[in-house]
Amino acid sequence: MPFSLFDAPQREASHFLGFSGNIIDRQSEKRSDDSAVKALAEPGARLILVAQGRLLLDFSGGSATPYFSRAAAEALGAGTGEAILLGRADDIAMLALPVAAEQEGLPEHIKSIDFRSILAQRLTDEAGLGALAQGAALLAWHASHRFCGRCGAATEMRAGGYKRHCTGCGTEHFPRTDPVAIMLTVSGDKCLMGRGRHFAPGVYSALAGFIEPGETIEAAVRRETLEEAGIRLGRVVYHSSQPWPFPYSLMIGCYGEALNDDISRDTDELEDCRWFPRAEVLQMLAGTHPGELRVPPGHAIAHQLIRTWAESD
Ligand SMILES: [Zn+2]
Repeated sequence: MPFSLFDAPQREASHFLGFSGNIIDRQSEKRSDDSAVKALAEPGARLILVAQGRLLLDFSGGSATPYFSRAAAEALGAGTGEAILLGRADDIAMLALPVAAEQEGLPEHIKSIDFRSILAQRLTDEAGLGALAQGAALLAWHASHRFCGRCGAATEMRAGGYKRHCTGCGTEHFPRTDPVAIMLTVSGDKCLMGRGRHFAPGVYSALAGFIEPGETIEAAVRRETLEEAGIRLGRVVYHSSQPWPFPYSLMIGCYGEALNDDISRDTDELEDCRWFPRAEVLQMLAGTHPGELRVPPGHAIAHQLIRTWAESD
C-alpha cells in the first residue's frame, strides 16, 4: 500500500474509543453571553443533567435516555442559571446543567449513575457519551473556577459557558483540558505493561502520566516511561486520543520503541511492571489467560493501544 499521510475520519483510531462520538456542532463562532439562556427557551431543547461524577438517566420510556426537557430538569432542581450551551445536534439545542447528586429524592424512573458505569455498560449511545464528555468537563471546570486566580473576585459565566469573566479585574478565564500521555512501550515481540495500586485484580495496562508545561507529547512519553519503568525510548508515534471527563483530561495514546530491556520500576506508582510476550497479551485480550490476567475494557484507549499492537503484523 502506498504511504498515506492522511486517513479517512471513520478510520481514525480515536473514532473507536468511548466518549469520542460527539456529534454536536459546537458553533463556537456564534457563542454570545445570552446564547445559553436563549437556547434554554427553545421548546425542543435537550438538556443533560450532571451531578458530580454522575449523569442522570431517565428510564421511563423503557430504555434509558440522558436527555431532559427544561420543565423536567427544573422539576429535578437543575441549576438553569448555570446552563451551558454545548451546541446543536440535528439543529436541536443541546445543553448541560448541574444538578444535586443524591439518588434519594429522585423519582423512581430516574437514576444518577457514575460516568464509568455509563461508559462500561453503554447506557447511552455514542452521541450521548460525547455530549456527556463535553458537558461534564465544562461543568467541572466552572465548579472549580468561581473566583479569579488573579485578583480573587467572583467570576461570571459568559459565552454560553465557554468563558468566565472576572467581576473585579476583568480577566477572562477559559476552560482547560489537561493532556495525559498514555503509552505502550514495545520491544520486538513483547510490550511493557504495569499495574497501578488502584487497579482491579489481574489488570495490566499501558503506562500513563500528565504532560507537563513546556513539554512535547513525545518528550512526556519518554520521560514518564523512564521515570516509571526505567526504560529509555527511541521512536515515539501517536496513535489516538480520547476525551476523558475525570474531570477534564484528554488521553493521548502513543507507542514507544524501547532502547533497553531492564526494568527499574517506580514502586510508589506501580505495584508491578513487566514485559509481556505477544502471545500472552492475545490471551489477556481474549479472556483466556491461564493466570486470569487481563487488560482494560474495550472502550478504554489503553485497550485499543494494546489490541492494535498485539494484532499487528
Ligand atoms: Zn480578577
